[in-house]
Amino acid sequence: MNAALLADKVAFVTGATRGIGLATAQAFAAAGAIVAMGGRNLANIKAAMEQVLQFCPGARLLPVVCDVGQEQDTKLAFQIIFREFKRLDVFVANAGILGDGLLGMVTRQQIVTVFSTNVFGAFHGAQYASRLMARHGGGSMIFLSSIMGTQGSAGQSVYSGSKAAIIGLVKSLAKELAPKNIRVNCIAPGFIDTDMTRSIPADKFAERAASIPMGRIGRPDEVANVSLFLASDLSGYVTGQVLGVDGGMLI
Ligand code: NAP
Repeated sequence: MNAALLADKVAFVTGATRGIGLATAQAFAAAGAIVAMGGRNLANIKAAMEQVLQFCPGARLLPVVCDVGQEQDTKLAFQIIFREFKRLDVFVANAGILGDGLLGMVTRQQIVTVFSTNVFGAFHGAQYASRLMARHGGGSMIFLSSIMGTQGSAGQSVYSGSKAAIIGLVKSLAKELAPKNIRVNCIAPGFIDTDMTRSIPADKFAERAASIPMGRIGRPDEVANVSLFLASDLSGYVTGQVLGVDGGMLI
């Protein structure tokens, strides 16, 4: 049923080498999209492309080396996409990093590092994506925020602050870009089984998993399916929204 949802659309997913980004690339490819897969390391991107091709033989994929914390990388990535396809229909600002620490221990460098990837990366991506989308009558942008961005979390002020910034960015861009037929939405995942969540201390992991009303941690493909909805015309009248994918953590 999904096969035609994104037929021949061009999508760019940042941080597509694993976790939610990889699952999103898979879902988009299976829905017929041409997918530019971003990441900081070409070998990692190629390994991820192999996984997509196993899941979806014949998928049309483009590796794009892009550290979203570097504006020049982002600019080059969009130039490559324009050169290859002359258009962009869907942009997923997925690349993100944690940077946990209690307030007194947080360093300026930690804030700069997290905000460079999570906020500046998303911001510059939106700038370049909007230019390409506007040339072809519109598109859909999807940003990965977090339940931490809406609820906050002790010991995660840097990460939570960065993810809250994404929500302000999304709501403003939704208003600004609506006249150009560019929809801008945000996903706020709860606790999803990826390298990111597996990197936190075991006691915190168990505590957070136990707090989920649905009684289980989420899967990357469950977030990817919401991205697929937001990317496709199924959500054609949806913009400026923050959609929780959290098994009931925020009710
Ligand atoms: P993950 O498993 O740690 O994967 C992160 C991805 O981002 C990797 O592909 C990594 O690629 C890429 N990346 C990191 N820094 C980058 C940079 N500077 N430039 C380009 N790519 C970069 O993370 P995830 O759990 O899938 O999370 C994906 C997004 O969802 C993040 O924005 C995260 O904050 C958000 N989120 C996740 C959860 C969760 O429970 N997992 C909950 C809420 C929100 P390389 O290392 O190969 O470059």
